[in-house]
Amino acid sequence: MRLSRSNKLVLFGVALLMVGLAGRAAADETPSAPSHPQAKPAISAPPTPPAKPVKPPVKPTEAAKQKVVTISARQGRGPGGSRLTTGSKAVALTFDDGPDPAQTPKILQLLAQQHVHATFCLVGQNVAKHPELVRQIVAGGHTLCNHTWSHDLKLGKKPAAKIKADLARTNAAIRAAAPNAKIRYFRAPGGNFTPAVVAIAKQMGMGSLYWKVDPRDWDHPEGETHAQHRARVIAKVEHSTHPGAIVLSHDYAQPDTIAAYRTLVPWLKKRYKLIGL
Ligand SMILES: [Zn+2]
Repeated sequence: MRLSRSNKLVLFGVALLMVGLAGRAAADETPSAPSHPQAKPAISAPPTPPAKPVKPPVKPTEAAKQKVVTISARQGRGPGGSRLTTGSKAVALTFDDGPDPAQTPKILQLLAQQHVHATFCLVGQNVAKHPELVRQIVAGGHTLCNHTWSHDLKLGKKPAAKIKADLARTNAAIRAAAPNAKIRYFRAPGGNFTPAVVAIAKQMGMGSLYWKVDPRDWDHPEGETHAQHRARVIAKVEHSTHPGAIVLSHDYAQPDTIAAYRTLVPWLKKRYKLIGL
């Protein structure tokens, strides 16, 4: 029997439909297989599950900063060739911007009670006002770090002579307070290291000290209570500290930081060897 032209078309259509259904069935057997990016979705395909929620982006500057640190961390160096890690599994606590007549004695007392050594990055002007606190830091067996004369955030970009003069003036104040003290490190305010400032510090016998963990204890967002601030600093340090980390914090004018470390020092001690650098 000869099929009419219209019957041939119907048969052809049925054949196409069967091929299509077979393909669908095969696809349904492998639901976990990732869809080919170029495949067009079938009209009757079930709706694709909603995309996983994406974390809100961090501020661009912060994200950029973290990226720089991450890349540098892989290379073992921070900005300007500065140091990011302790070079061992030990963790180092660093306290900046002091000495502070109210807070520095408190952190020194806590560290002494816990038999922990730390590194103090001192601002020359504060050293000149409170030389007795520099002697207490040295007597406690802690490590000294030059943090410029007046916390100049732009020092690294100034002429070499200005950089040298600032670092020398700060070291002179520290040595006037504690004549035989070794000043092992330099830390640029804000972490604003440049190759020039790192090189000059090296010529003066100081290693450049960046950090791996920054709990932003200096930041006091509007509306954050003291308890919230302390909880944030504690959570950040506990979450971010890993073997070899250098942790940045501030003893100058940061009473909540000192309070946070009453919790943090015992917590860290259980997990890491804490060292002065
Ligand atoms: Zn500072």
